[in-house]
Amino acid sequence: MITQRSSIDTYDFVFAGGGLAGLSLAWQIAQSPLRNRSMLIVDHDSSPIQNSTFSYWSEGSNPFLQAVSYTWDQLSVFTKDGSSRSNLGSYRYHTIRGADIYRLVSQELSACPRVTSLRGHISEMSETVEGVRILVDGREYTGKWVFDSRPRSNTGQSQTEKYLRLKMSFQGWDIETDQDVFNPRNAILMDFRTYQGSDMCFFYVLPYDERHALVEYTIFAQKPLSHSDSEAALYCYLESVFGLSAGQNFQLNHREAGCLLVTDQPFERRTGFRTLAIGLSGGRLKPSTGYAFTRIQRDSRAILRSLLQHNHPFHIPGDSPLYTLLDSLMLEVMRDYPENTQRIFSALFERNSMDNVLRFLDEDAPLSEVLRLMATLPAGLFIKIMGQRSLKPGLSKALNFGSSYSQGNRS
Ligand SMILES: Cc1cc2nc3c(=O)[nH]c(=O)nc-3n(C[C@H](O)[C@H](O)[C@H](O)COP(=O)(O)OP(=O)(O)OC[C@H]3O[C@@H](n4cnc5c(N)ncnc54)[C@H](O)[C@@H]3O)c2cc1C
Repeated sequence: MITQRSSIDTYDFVFAGGGLAGLSLAWQIAQSPLRNRSMLIVDHDSSPIQNSTFSYWSEGSNPFLQAVSYTWDQLSVFTKDGSSRSNLGSYRYHTIRGADIYRLVSQELSACPRVTSLRGHISEMSETVEGVRILVDGREYTGKWVFDSRPRSNTGQSQTEKYLRLKMSFQGWDIETDQDVFNPRNAILMDFRTYQGSDMCFFYVLPYDERHALVEYTIFAQKPLSHSDSEAALYCYLESVFGLSAGQNFQLNHREAGCLLVTDQPFERRTGFRTLAIGLSGGRLKPSTGYAFTRIQRDSRAILRSLLQHNHPFHIPGDSPLYTLLDSLMLEVMRDYPENTQRIFSALFERNSMDNVLRFLDEDAPLSEVLRLMATLPAGLFIKIMGQRSLKPGLSKALNFGSSYSQGNRS
């Protein structure tokens, strides 16, 4: 994307942050009847998205399908007691490079007449009568609507102790081996075979070919995992599961690491009269899985629909109360009973078809299907947690029933 100084300073749409969520929404707008509106995309650093890869499952088409690097039609889950391998049915598991999304969106935006991309740091945002005033490196811009994906220091709620908050730490290695080790058709979604420690953790393998794969370690815990601990876990996994030793039979090409907050705390979406929080800042990370890609794409489509039909971006669906509750229960299991998570995931994948599990994780399964699926899981623990919550004051809050977010135009 060409970085330039802007010659005008009032825009229909301002994207405060041009990472995955900002670019996904800009891409939707660029392909819609709103493509002639003026847009300003501000980001102080385009390298995070350019250096990331995103993986997700999808059924049918999705916005960036033409830029996907790898696709799998089988997923495996390994537990200490066994494994389940499933064809994905109508789903596919994809990996896409952030750099390819960036390139694709840049191409699309360069064909729109009034798009400005600005490299700069947003230090202030305030609502005025004309719109939202944004200060970028000391210069003022105004946006009629602002889409804000800058990280928030908190989620806008005061009583954070009411909510569960865990850190999802992960480190992924892109490795090449000197012998055929991997099955390129089959990605490993979760592997619990090595030491579990006292937190919920697993490995994840995306084989690009027989000798080339991304191998990642993920852990949900109260504190971020240190770099050296996740490295040690990766060395141990590669040695014990694939017989690979660093320097001898595999080479490390690239590392990717991160630590994200997963929480059942509701995220305020409308953070100002004309400002909508998007991406992780808008609560699009699913707390029980750590995936956000698909939710960000859906959110972008919903925002565009709202702009087209209601002339403002706020008429978007709220999070489902049922799935919000299930996410919250799962977070509590991960925090307080992590030794049970393997049993739950084993049952989930062994007793249900992969299609059904993925539809459930995408929050697309209807209630009857959710109940059928829940009946295959060890119920005792969930009943115990629900029982404990029901004894707390304010049952509905304890059960974390959110409300549907859909607002009329207050502009
Ligand atoms: C390493 C990593 C790998 C991930 N992999 C996956 C995956 O495989 N699948 C999946 O579903 N999810 C994944 N996620 C989760 C999620 O999809 C990503 O975090 C995604 O980037 C979220 O998009 P976003 O736009 O909310 O945030 P970001 O992409 O981080 O975008 C926010 C942007 O705001 C900019 N910014 C921040 N503050 C300012 C400021 N003051 N002024 C100007 N610009 C500012 C930043 O530079 C950044 O570009 C991953 C997350 C990480 C960290």
